[in-house]
Amino acid sequence: MIGILLIGPPGAGKGTQAALLAIRYSIPAISTGDIFRKNVADETPLGVEAKGYMDRGEYVPDSLTNALVKDRLSQSDVLNGFLLDGYPRTLDQVEKLDEFLAQSGTKLDVVVQLTADREELVSRLANRAEQQGRTDDTPEVIRKRQTIYEQQTAPLIDVYASRSLVAKVDGLGEVNVVTARISEVLNARGLSEDA
Ligand code: AMP
Repeated sequence: MIGILLIGPPGAGKGTQAALLAIRYSIPAISTGDIFRKNVADETPLGVEAKGYMDRGEYVPDSLTNALVKDRLSQSDVLNGFLLDGYPRTLDQVEKLDEFLAQSGTKLDVVVQLTADREELVSRLANRAEQQGRTDDTPEVIRKRQTIYEQQTAPLIDVYASRSLVAKVDGLGEVNVVTARISEVLNARGLSEDA
C-alpha cells in the first residue's frame, strides 16, 4: 500500500508524471482534472456544473470535488495504493481527504512537490494549448489559474511539510529524468516499486 500525492502549479507536469508513476508502481492515478474533463465531455450533471468554473480557471466548489474523490477512493482498485494528482487543492479538501483516508484505513506516504519557474510554466501551457486544445489554456485563464494556485493551494505545502511528508522535486527537464528524480525520493522514503 502506497499513497502518493503530486502537488505543484499548473503546467509543472503533474499529469504526465502521474500517468508514468501509476504504471511503475501499479497503482491508479486519480486526477480530479481528468475526471472533471471526462464528465464535461460526457455532459453529465457533474460536468455541466463544473464546466463554467473550469473554463474560467476557477476551482470547482469543494462540496462537488470532495464528493467525487470520496466516491473514487471507495473503489476497490485503491486498496493497493493510489496516486492523487490535483487533489487536494484547498484546506477544506485536505481535511476531507484526511477523513476519507482514515475511514478506509489508508494514509498518505509522501507529497511530491513538483517545482518549475513561472516562465517555463507559461511556455509549457502554451504548448499544451496547441496540442490538446484545452479550453482553460488561454493566456488569461492560465494567469488566473496560477494566481489561484498561489493563493489557495501553495499553502497546503506547509501543512504537509509540518507532517514531514513533503519531498521537493525539480520538475524541469526531460520527462524521464523527472520521473527518475521522483523515484529517487520515493526510494529514499522506503517506497519501492513492488511495495
Ligand atoms: P487540472 O487538470 O488538475 O489542472 O484541473 C483542471 C481544472 O479542473 C481546474 O482548473 C479546476 O477548475 C478543476 N479542478 C481539478 N481538480 C480540482 C480540485 N481538487 N478542486 C477544485 N477544482 C479542481
